Order: sequence, then C-alpha cells, then structure tokens
Amino acid sequence: MRAPRNTARLFFFEKVLKHDDPVSCLIWPYAKLPGGYGVIKLKGWRVNQYVHRLVCEHANGPPPAGLYAAHCCGNASCVNPYHLRWATPRENQMDRHAHGTIIRPDARGERNPSAKLTEAQVRWIRACGLSAVEVSKNLNVTTNLVWGIRRSMPIRLEPNDPNPARTRP
Ligand SMILES: [Zn+2]
Repeated sequence: MRAPRNTARLFFFEKVLKHDDPVSCLIWPYAKLPGGYGVIKLKGWRVNQYVHRLVCEHANGPPPAGLYAAHCCGNASCVNPYHLRWATPRENQMDRHAHGTIIRPDARGERNPSAKLTEAQVRWIRACGLSAVEVSKNLNVTTNLVWGIRRSMPIRLEPNDPNPARTRP
C-alpha cells in the first residue's frame, strides 16, 4: 500500500513539468482555490503556490515585472505548460473577458463591430499551441478565421491600442 503524502508534488514534477501535449488541457487534479486555480506547497515554501504560475515560469522563464501567468485556453485549472504565458494585467483581463471568466462590464475593444478579436487574442491564436479547432471553440470563432490569422491574413485589430509594443514571445 502506498499513499505518498507528496502525490501532488510527484505529479507536478513528473507529469506537469514534463507534459508534452500542446493541445489538450492538463487539469490540476489536486488542491484548488475556489476560482479553480491549482495550488501546491513545495518543499521549502511555507505557503501554497499557484501551480499555473510555477509552470509558466518553468516554461517561459521568470515573470517580467508585473506580468501575470495567463491561460490561452481560459481554463483556470489547466496547468499545461503550452497554454501558459506571461501577460500584462490588461491582456489577462481581456483574455478573461474573451473566455467569459468574468462579466464584461463594457464593450471594450469591441466598439468597432467588425473587430471580432482583440490584438491580444490574435497574438494568442498565433502563439498558443492549440489546434485551430480548439482555438475556435475557446474563442467562439470559426476555424477559418483561426487559420486565416495564422496565415497572417489582415484583420482589423482593436483600434487605438495605447501600448502596441508590449508584446513578448
Ligand atoms: Zn489549457
């Protein structure tokens, strides 16, 4: 009979950090906060850490100041390294709008009715490892649009982005 007390740690190091499937979400099966974010207590730490943040750091390096670990899949419990990247609070907010995680208080970025996607979403579509079908489901757009964006089809972006140069890989 084996019931290691550090099951979550084993899973974290052996499964999550070595995860190599860019498509499907990898759901954290252990402790989660009410918002769905997985947490873990690693050796040497007194408090729980956000798993997705640790994974994002593992995958993308330490966080640039002020950036959040954001999901390109909109699934707070997902810890797939391919679905995580550092994003500005504003990008993160827009992502959460896009995925319906929070109620949209205004039509920000969608004042122009022909702007189907924000710049942050377009960048996500290009950068995240999800298939076109997965992306189209997540963002509720057609797969044709996703393919078009990946082929760099011209698309109307959010007008007057005040900070267009903040992108990072
Ligand atoms: Zn995911």
